[in-house]
Amino acid sequence: MAKLRWGLIGASTIAAEHMISAFRANGGEAVVVMSANADRGASYAKKHGIARATTSLKELVESKEVDAVYISTTNELHRGQLFAAAAAGKHVLCEKPLALTLADARAMVAECRKHGVVMGTNHHLRNAATHRAMREAIKEGRIGKPLFARVFHSVYLPPHLQGWRLDRPEAGGGVMLDITVHDADTLRFVLDDEPTSVIAMGSHGGMGRAGLEDGAMGVIRFSQGLLAQFHDGFTTKYATTGFEVHGESGSLIGRDCMTQEPKGEVLLRTSSGDEALKLDHEKLYVRSIRLFQEAILGRGAPSATGEDGVKSLSVAISALKAARSGTETAIDLTV
Ligand code: NDP
Repeated sequence: MAKLRWGLIGASTIAAEHMISAFRANGGEAVVVMSANADRGASYAKKHGIARATTSLKELVESKEVDAVYISTTNELHRGQLFAAAAAGKHVLCEKPLALTLADARAMVAECRKHGVVMGTNHHLRNAATHRAMREAIKEGRIGKPLFARVFHSVYLPPHLQGWRLDRPEAGGGVMLDITVHDADTLRFVLDDEPTSVIAMGSHGGMGRAGLEDGAMGVIRFSQGLLAQFHDGFTTKYATTGFEVHGESGSLIGRDCMTQEPKGEVLLRTSSGDEALKLDHEKLYVRSIRLFQEAILGRGAPSATGEDGVKSLSVAISALKAARSGTETAIDLTV
């Protein structure tokens, strides 16, 4: 395709660390960045080789030099920014969590449908070779009926990200909207199944403020009876990540795979012994952008669609409700 020209809504860390290079790796370019602060936007543009910066959402979305937008502002801003972009006919890749409420997230999907633009949610973990290999192995029946899954996704939030996630509930801070939402999406993808209910507890390990949890554990029940356990945190400097699925006739043990990097391994353990699954590692965000571009051309769908963003958000919102009520809480998957 002709070079895809991206407008960045948000002068964010994720765009700087992963997405601008992913656009370029796919032959595209970030042509303009929007920041609420003119000086910050200008220095961000200069630092990352972006032609120009603006403080006007309207100007960015209506710009003829922009084909698609990438929204990576704080979470309370996603909805309004997506509405503006869709109305201007721009394809939208939006960061997770899509919004702070299910009603908003559903409205975002409806708005993109209404304007006939492609919508993707940047759930990068679907693009990991580890998770793709586990999904395939399950489909091929290599572990029989899946009975349990376990997600180990407790990390240490690096100092440069110790901001709104820890002290701004109104921006969608807290570990469940930040990390549990990714677990939910990865479980839905690997298991190719949908969750029905969740029970969870949040914890406060000294980082979260304003009542925000910085750790969580819980269990998600899936439609075929499988139980999935999750452990998320901002506070653990030495924990490893992992993703396991245990079935009637085998287990899949993924290590070092709940990460932004193309790494990790998966062991298949059955009565025949242990086998390391062959993995074809590719940069997660590069693959995400490749599939998004293909979707614009009418070939397939983004790796995580807007609908996926709504459903995975619903799990995180239900987990938050469950943590507050102490009861198993139903997950509404209506989009
Ligand atoms: P940042 O905190 O880096 O950026 C969010 C906003 O904060 C920016 O839009 C910017 O506002 C403002 N900001 C950023 N840096 C500074 C600074 N130094 N001084 C003042 N203001 C600043 O957020 P992240 O990149 O961590 O997250 C952004 C979004 O991406 C969130 O929705 C998050 O959940 C998601 N995310 C997704 C990941 C994934 O793998 N899918 C990974 C990480 C984040 P302005 O634009 O107005 O300048």
